[in-house]
Amino acid sequence: MDYLTSPRKIPNNQAIMANKYDLFTFFGKLWEVAADYCKFDKTKIMPVLVECPDESQRLKTLYCIATFGMFPFAGGKLGAELDTCAIGPASHHAENLVYIMGSHTGYDSINKKWGSIYREKEGDYSTCCGKLAGILGPYLDKYEDAKRSIKYFIDEGRVLLKIPNRFLEIRNSCESDTVELRLKSSLIKDSLESEAIITAESPGCVIFEIHPDLQLALEDKNRKITHDPTPIGDDLNSNYLKFHIISSDQFSDGISERLYPLMHQIVASLDYPPIVTIANVNTWIEFNRFVDAIHAIPDVLNKGIFAISGLTVDLYLEKESSYSNIYYPQYAFFKPSEEKEGIVMGTSEANNLLNIYAPIKDMLSLDRIIEKDKGVIKKIGL
Ligand SMILES: [Zn+2]
Repeated sequence: MDYLTSPRKIPNNQAIMANKYDLFTFFGKLWEVAADYCKFDKTKIMPVLVECPDESQRLKTLYCIATFGMFPFAGGKLGAELDTCAIGPASHHAENLVYIMGSHTGYDSINKKWGSIYREKEGDYSTCCGKLAGILGPYLDKYEDAKRSIKYFIDEGRVLLKIPNRFLEIRNSCESDTVELRLKSSLIKDSLESEAIITAESPGCVIFEIHPDLQLALEDKNRKITHDPTPIGDDLNSNYLKFHIISSDQFSDGISERLYPLMHQIVASLDYPPIVTIANVNTWIEFNRFVDAIHAIPDVLNKGIFAISGLTVDLYLEKESSYSNIYYPQYAFFKPSEEKEGIVMGTSEANNLLNIYAPIKDMLSLDRIIEKDKGVIKKIGL
């Protein structure tokens, strides 16, 4: 598995987003997996949702009730962070647990834009997931600034890079900065300590000779290198930068701290926007925390556990004035009740398992759920 062998390399978005389902199909298949593959007693399964509490993805709660006949246990916190303290209590309430996990992001289908949705009660578009967008923001701002401000040009036959001082470790941070972007020596011919040129025309910048490998990469991509300085743009990939947090007090929570070492890869992702990448990376990290926790908490040792972790994409359907979700399964975990160790499945294994099963058709309808609940005071004689 990638996440076991290369914990410092983020998953490829395209590979882990290769399969997607509407919620009706996904939950229908999940029920069949729990009953047939896991051999869980259908009357003793409790769903556990590990997800962000946004209103835009609450449909999953209804599908849990419709599929499993009961409300889901809440196993997550803001940002789809796994609440490890909830694992023990959840396991006390059922013989078998089915975890549905993962981060979410929005897709604005009208403007074809990831990372935001129209929120009806707000009357406007806003970020989705707002929690992850808040974590990503300061890093992305620095990266976008660097892509615009670091420029290459040719002078007397040498390709040079003009780098603003703020990306070099030669100035003190502004008080308002929470994070700094620092460049790696691989950008420069010799090293960042090597001979640099400070010119009168660009007093806030230092000029270095470009690394031959980067020059070759620019030439391979047919970039025009002229006397006019050109922004480096997307050619400033994650190999050339790292982030430095000014103070560890800046981490407001565990999610921020766990994502920090991977932020240079997240901001520079090209196959999907960074807001999708951060959601996928967070999904991957929290799933790993889940696998560790399941093996470490004694209360769950004699329980049957199945977990599926993936990305939820939130949609707002304008005509219907309602939210909808698409689920991209990415990882799975199965531990029979009689086993101490569980097995972990990567994206293709998890999706191959789901694909074996056709979704059930006999889900509880909302009418039946309300009918069961209606008149409760009379039913119990209070
Ligand atoms: Zn959220």
